[in-house]
Amino acid sequence: MTSEDSARARWDALRHDLLALLWPGSCVACGAPDRVCCAPCLAEIRGQAGAAPRPLVRRLPRPERPALELRAAGRYDGALRAGLVAYKHAGRVGLAKPLGARLGPVLGAAIATAPEPPLVVAVPSRPARVRER
Ligand SMILES: [Zn+2]
Repeated sequence: MTSEDSARARWDALRHDLLALLWPGSCVACGAPDRVCCAPCLAEIRGQAGAAPRPLVRRLPRPERPALELRAAGRYDGALRAGLVAYKHAGRVGLAKPLGARLGPVLGAAIATAPEPPLVVAVPSRPARVRER
């Protein structure tokens, strides 16, 4: 981390503290106070917690066509799931940047390697919608 990154991190922390005085809230994933998403959960969403994130890839064979390759930015659980649900259903648009940063490389790889234009499908968050898809 450079000194500029460190200064930015301190500025972001101060900005979040000031916002928390006006709009108290809690982490969308673990409930920690005063942050839309606390640092450990944000690291998990970004794929910085523990091992580097690996996109999930499944290949489904199809008759007389190239196999259908399914890719996901990560397992739909933990802070990643909580962040996606909060973004989709609770208007937590502040999570767009880390969620997009997680999805971008996976989508870029899919576009670069797909024999056909890729089809992007949002993960449904409710069991009834999962069964429907
Ligand atoms: Zn948290």
